Amino acid sequence: MEGPSALAPPIGSAPHGVSPRTLRAAEILSRLVAFETVSRSSNLDLVAFVTDYLSQHGVQARLIHDATKTKASILATIGPRNMPGVVLSAHTDVVPCEGQNWATPPFTATSRGGRIFGRGTSDMKGFVAAVLAQVPDLCAAELCAPVHLAFSYDEELGCRGAPDLVKQVAKISKKPLLCIVGEPTQMRVIRGHKGKIARRITIHGRGGHSAYPYRGANAVNAAVQIAMGLRAIARELEARRDAEGFDPPYASVHIGSLHGGTALNLIPETAVLEFEIRSTPKTDLAEILGRIDTIVAACLASLQTAAPESRIESENLIDYPGLECDGAGPAARFVTRLSGTSAEPATISFGTEAGLYAAAGIPTLVCGPGDIARAHIADEWIGLDELDEASAMLDRLRDLLTQPDWADCLN
Ligand SMILES: [Zn+2]
Repeated sequence: MEGPSALAPPIGSAPHGVSPRTLRAAEILSRLVAFETVSRSSNLDLVAFVTDYLSQHGVQARLIHDATKTKASILATIGPRNMPGVVLSAHTDVVPCEGQNWATPPFTATSRGGRIFGRGTSDMKGFVAAVLAQVPDLCAAELCAPVHLAFSYDEELGCRGAPDLVKQVAKISKKPLLCIVGEPTQMRVIRGHKGKIARRITIHGRGGHSAYPYRGANAVNAAVQIAMGLRAIARELEARRDAEGFDPPYASVHIGSLHGGTALNLIPETAVLEFEIRSTPKTDLAEILGRIDTIVAACLASLQTAAPESRIESENLIDYPGLECDGAGPAARFVTRLSGTSAEPATISFGTEAGLYAAAGIPTLVCGPGDIARAHIADEWIGLDELDEASAMLDRLRDLLTQPDWADCLN
């Protein structure tokens, strides 16, 4: 593994006037982009690169593997372990590029006009690079509190990798006082986002000739009945409008797919329906899921009256909590100060791992470089100026952590 000094700069020329610190982050970003850490693939090569880099600076990382041992999260601590510190959270996976028309190779960082193009530059290897570029300075600083680096996998599949990592972070003997999730918010401080539960319901009825519908159990009819029940709940939640500051300002129930039957003259034997709920902080999820279970149970009972062997399977696809942090509270004020912006903490419409950290009792906000509008699409990019802003935030954090009374403002 090459040393930090041998990091490759992005292809293309860096514009004049770029600070060495930003150039360093850009070089690391270039290396990170080259690892094709699409969520379906292993991220272990990237993990090896990061852990080697950290160990060259004397930082030992812990890996938390998934069940298949093909993916791992990284947890590393810089600074005194006998004090509560700050978590910097990111994910290492990226979304696929298939079917997208890229002007440059997506897994080769290409620098042009002050921008670095490549998959994951905004979401969110740019932040990872800025954090890694800060490591030598963090190691050299006389920190009064530690910085914990927490890098996950499978975030893009619905925050599947983070729960095991968050469990380990929550077990740190001096529980962190703050977590910053560096998802791309253009350095805007984010205090809240919705939670999400997605489910697949598979209905198995009984097929037969369509001339004798009473002899079968029509799975499509059951799926439609469930879909109508979901729509009724969706309309009710929409009318509540209980989430001011969110877009839309209510919890949403969305049916994303509904498939069933094979031919017009056959009674459909199976049907599959996928739906999601995006909950607001005020949503009583248990109550809504209970109502959905009741609807599904009624459908099953009706199917089994016609065909006792009928069954319905319900599978959780995605499940992560929302984030709700007091926008006027000490943690939000602290991160706003770090971010270098003066804007009021806001909400976002996309999900992050922040709700998992918050649920573990760690005050958490989202703030990072890049723009979610550029994520997941062709020609994703991040500006060198944006990398610089992220580095400036980390500089401020490092400087604050060298002051013994740094945490006073968090209390
Ligand atoms: Zn992301």
